[in-house]
Amino acid sequence: MKPALNTPDWVLAALQERRQQDLMRSTITLDSPQVPHPQIHSQNYTAFCSNDYLGLANHPKLIKAMNDTAQAYGVGGGSSHLVCGHLAPHQALEEALADWLGYERVMLFSTGYMANLGVISALADKNRPVVQDKLNHASLIDGALLAQAPLRRYLHGNVTSAQKLLSKYSTAGLLITDGVFSMDGDIAPLADLSQLANQHDWMFMVDDAHGLGCLGENGRGCLSLAGLDAASLPILVGTFGKSFGTAGAFVATSHDYAEYLTQFARPYVYTTAMSPAIAGATLASLQLVQSVEGQERRERLARHIAYFRKRVQTLPVTLMPSNTAIQPIVVGDSKAAIKISERLKDLGIWCTAIRPPTVPVGSARLRITLSAAHSDEDLVLLCDSLERVLTANFLNEKR
Ligand SMILES: *Cc1c(COP(=O)(O)O)cnc(C)c1O
Repeated sequence: MKPALNTPDWVLAALQERRQQDLMRSTITLDSPQVPHPQIHSQNYTAFCSNDYLGLANHPKLIKAMNDTAQAYGVGGGSSHLVCGHLAPHQALEEALADWLGYERVMLFSTGYMANLGVISALADKNRPVVQDKLNHASLIDGALLAQAPLRRYLHGNVTSAQKLLSKYSTAGLLITDGVFSMDGDIAPLADLSQLANQHDWMFMVDDAHGLGCLGENGRGCLSLAGLDAASLPILVGTFGKSFGTAGAFVATSHDYAEYLTQFARPYVYTTAMSPAIAGATLASLQLVQSVEGQERRERLARHIAYFRKRVQTLPVTLMPSNTAIQPIVVGDSKAAIKISERLKDLGIWCTAIRPPTVPVGSARLRITLSAAHSDEDLVLLCDSLERVLTANFLNEKR
């Protein structure tokens, strides 16, 4: 028997409030790998909400690389990178990433959330402010909070608004943006932001969690799309949990910044290194991303995106200005978003509704994500189902 706990009233009240606002969240269990047709609650669905954009999370080459690396180096890192947890597979992955992206140094982090906390808390402080896009990922906001730095957020994607905020500060700080915005799928005006940071002598940081692997030449993400390099974008964060199909993250930067972060980024210093087996799998993933197969996967994804947008154009919803794998349909009301998600479930489509506070109040949505692992038939099923559900929903509203 597990002992019963007395839960404080305020905990129960907070839960009740979330429930009443249709904002309660809970985990669901997949009884299968992360594939386009996962098994959930003993039923098969076609899923359109994972971030496994290239379909690598269950790729045989990654599984083999993970097995092989575990055979050679074990499973656990055993300590932080700085004590004795930095193994050969970590080093090999860092060097391969640095070569791929054209940076002097790459440092691995256990997760993207921690990479952002680590970099921002080390580079910003009470006298070095943070200015960032209003729709940046939560971890970028939390990094600024951890740094106890003055924080201002500019209008989404708006360089003029960013410039106004930068001008308000007398000391230089850190300008940060997502590359691809995680809930909207659009891309930040990176070239202009880089120039702005440069003009004001601010540091410039981009989190390209959703662009790396999927976009640009060789999958080098927004960096490549915007024609930037290590000089114009000195701090680039990427994650492995999305296109790479594994877990963990990295920052690509200069030798000096890397030395500095190694001393002062607490979420780097005071945590166990990622599993060497994950590093081995991620290196295999990087090789795939750079290969002809990677290119083919990016092309298949692009075809799915084009097909989806063409079909949804005719439906009574507004598409977001996104050409990436993230294709949200904003519903607005949380309850309505849940309802549409449930209707889709009845038709065999799994797409979890995304609600505040993940997205701004009043912009609950179906965050539909497409993957190279989806087949053409999967896309047809998705669009046919959306057509049925959204048209019915639209008619109900009119009545
Ligand atoms: C997912 C995500 C992260 C967090 O990465 P994890 O490795 O999942 O912790 C950070 N930034 C952005 C933009 C993301 O989408």
